[in-house]
Amino acid sequence: KGRLTQKPKWLRVKLPTGKKYTELRGLVDKYNLHTICTSGSCPNMGECWGEGTATFMILGNVCTRSCGFCGVKTGRPETVDWDEPEKVARSIKLMSIKHAVLTSVDRDDLKDGGSIIWAETVKAVRRMNPNTTLETLIPDFQGIERNIDRIVDVAPEVVSHNMETVKRLTREVRIQAKYERSLEVLRYLKASGINRTKSGIMLGLGEKEEEVIQTMHDLREVGLDVLTIGQYLQPSKKHLPVKEFITPDQFKKYEEIGLDLGFRHVESGALVRSSYKAQKHIL
Ligand code: SF4
Ligand code: SF4
Repeated sequence: KGRLTQKPKWLRVKLPTGKKYTELRGLVDKYNLHTICTSGSCPNMGECWGEGTATFMILGNVCTRSCGFCGVKTGRPETVDWDEPEKVARSIKLMSIKHAVLTSVDRDDLKDGGSIIWAETVKAVRRMNPNTTLETLIPDFQGIERNIDRIVDVAPEVVSHNMETVKRLTREVRIQAKYERSLEVLRYLKASGINRTKSGIMLGLGEKEEEVIQTMHDLREVGLDVLTIGQYLQPSKKHLPVKEFITPDQFKKYEEIGLDLGFRHVESGALVRSSYKAQKHIL
């Protein structure tokens, strides 16, 4: 009933442009390459692709989980494609990607949680693209250490795992996940020697300012290096509603609080997605 249907002006985006973008778009369409940037129609494509960054999803398009904010289909996932690591590595080469973000659906149906394909993908990307740096945006692997170790062993420059929201809303926002378990995954990654750990949250789901700040404290406590904060947007009417559009000033405020708390990088803004400016986060 007119409630939050009109997006504020800071959320209106220009269509991506630029020579590099046009070139990559052509390749993606021609070879049917699978990037989240295009399938999620991300507002940052012009910028990210222009800088040689893109995000690739592995382990299929169907997820075993059903987070209330996420546009990915839930159900019984496809069988594992053992050629996928090579395919992703080839896409990255074709697109001349300098910094690649890899992510996946959750594969709670697999004994290894998908961690073997994960590790093989990192290795294949490294083999074919020795100068490309990598961020792996991983699921929680249900906190199972031997699965997380497979990621640690192949040593991506950045390993990220998203909290997505504050503690109180975790059950509603990502039903099969646990706030504490995600924190423990991030703590474990850092303790295992990962150079840069990273996490992201979305705002506008009904969280309060003090809860956001508490989440930042919790993340610093597990040694997190990089934090991204963006506006939640509803992928369809079936997903959780947007409760609030956070103002640019409020995003700025969180960024300043985060930097004061000691994060190395904080990307905070309405259009920030977890892989936005990702190439910067290896530093
Ligand atoms: Fe792709 Fe992520 Fe950049 Fe969006 S923010 S264009 S998904 S790399
Ligand atoms: Fe989406 Fe990830 Fe949740 Fe699966 S686990 S529904 S891909 S956010």
